[in-house]
Amino acid sequence: MPLASTAAPVTAPFSTQRPPPRPPELRPSVPDGAAKPEPVSGAPALANSGGSTAPPTQSSCLSILAAIPGNRVNAAAPAAGDTDSACRISEPVRVGALAVTGSGGAVTVSFEPPPLLSCAMARTLADWLDRSVQPLVRGHFDRDLAALRVGGGHECRRRNRASAGPISEHATGQALDIFAFKLGSGGNASEVVVEKPGGLAQNRFLDAVRQSACGAFMTTLGPGSDAAHANHLHVDIQERRSRASRFCQ
Ligand SMILES: [Zn+2]
Repeated sequence: MPLASTAAPVTAPFSTQRPPPRPPELRPSVPDGAAKPEPVSGAPALANSGGSTAPPTQSSCLSILAAIPGNRVNAAAPAAGDTDSACRISEPVRVGALAVTGSGGAVTVSFEPPPLLSCAMARTLADWLDRSVQPLVRGHFDRDLAALRVGGGHECRRRNRASAGPISEHATGQALDIFAFKLGSGGNASEVVVEKPGGLAQNRFLDAVRQSACGAFMTTLGPGSDAAHANHLHVDIQERRSRASRFCQ
């Protein structure tokens, strides 16, 4: 009988005490070297041979993102002038690009323009792009995802820009608005615009992307949800106090 299990826990002599297991959020493309985040899923990160016991100076969230080749994610200062504590971002990062697994290796998906997000939102976004959006781009168009045209990263305001009411998820960097998906490169490049998809294939692609977003994020809104979301896909990871379930329209 072959020893097929790669996930079997190995009792390493140097680590009898391990942190409690976490969800397997590391992508398989994470290299063994680079930065040294704390062990997450227990498997490959332990192979580090550096011998350093110094704790990472970055947050583990940012360390994990920064360790993935192709990612352009940097710690960011909180937006100047935001004195309202309701608009504070937890671990603000500027996301220039996130790597996904392309047909011929890692592919860099750039953000136009680079949004200011919480690191937790950036990680959720990275996982969603790699696990859902890129495979959908491959499946529907036989191309790789190249870029996202986005807006509404961090912005200190109320929901839907109303003068009263709850603070927007954009105020805490927990939300992103996506206006278009750019596919392919060079003469093969094309764009799927959320507001005006071109034809049946693009419509189906956007439907599938939206379905997948409903599973990845806490809230997904887009064309047909309401007038404020007619031209973009809004995704956020804000916990809902009044709803136990995710909000997906
Ligand atoms: Zn939004």
